[in-house]
Amino acid sequence: MLKINEIFFSIQGETSYVGFPTVFIRTTGCNLRCTYCDTKYSYFEGVLMDVEKVLEKVQSYKARHVCVTGGEPLLQKDTIGLMKTLCDLGYIVSLETSGSKSCSEVDPRVKIILDVKTPDSGAPNSFDLANLKYINESTEIKFVICSADDLLWAENFSRQHDLFKKCQVLYSPSYGKIKERWLAEKILESSSSARMQLQMHKYIWHAEMRGV
Ligand code: SF4
Repeated sequence: MLKINEIFFSIQGETSYVGFPTVFIRTTGCNLRCTYCDTKYSYFEGVLMDVEKVLEKVQSYKARHVCVTGGEPLLQKDTIGLMKTLCDLGYIVSLETSGSKSCSEVDPRVKIILDVKTPDSGAPNSFDLANLKYINESTEIKFVICSADDLLWAENFSRQHDLFKKCQVLYSPSYGKIKERWLAEKILESSSSARMQLQMHKYIWHAEMRGV
């Protein structure tokens, strides 16, 4: 049984799967409280669903990609079985997690997106370093950058753990907090091997707010 906040069909806004039509399964509950969190509604709200009911809803959309997100999906033990079943059914599955909970049981067919929290996220030191053992070439490690200090920290963390050679490292500007151009220039200046990404869904769905 899983507590599910929402299941919806949209465009993937991040990672190397950006742009693909994707079914998102958002689980309820998070152990962190990031300053920039845009899914606070997922902390407590949700309904109990068994895996079959979740699959039924996913299958009602004609999508190949499924993203399991939160909240923190790994707080619920049945998330592991759900992801395995989705892989068995032929879906391309990704998991968005803060890496504060163990990824040891995640099916190797799942693309793990580790959202490592920076000092200015409001949830520093939440990443479980033991999760670095489960990194493979498909893993993507994301840092949401809120400041110059965050950028320096992310770069040091990535170099210290040799991440640039092991997987894809993504730097994303904290939406509305720092300028996209500032981050682009800093990445170039520092000769970083990180890949910059923008949270595309925010530019699509918030475009009206910017008068576009
Ligand atoms: S980990 Fe994600 S859901 Fe949890 S507080 Fe941070 S941004 Fe929000």
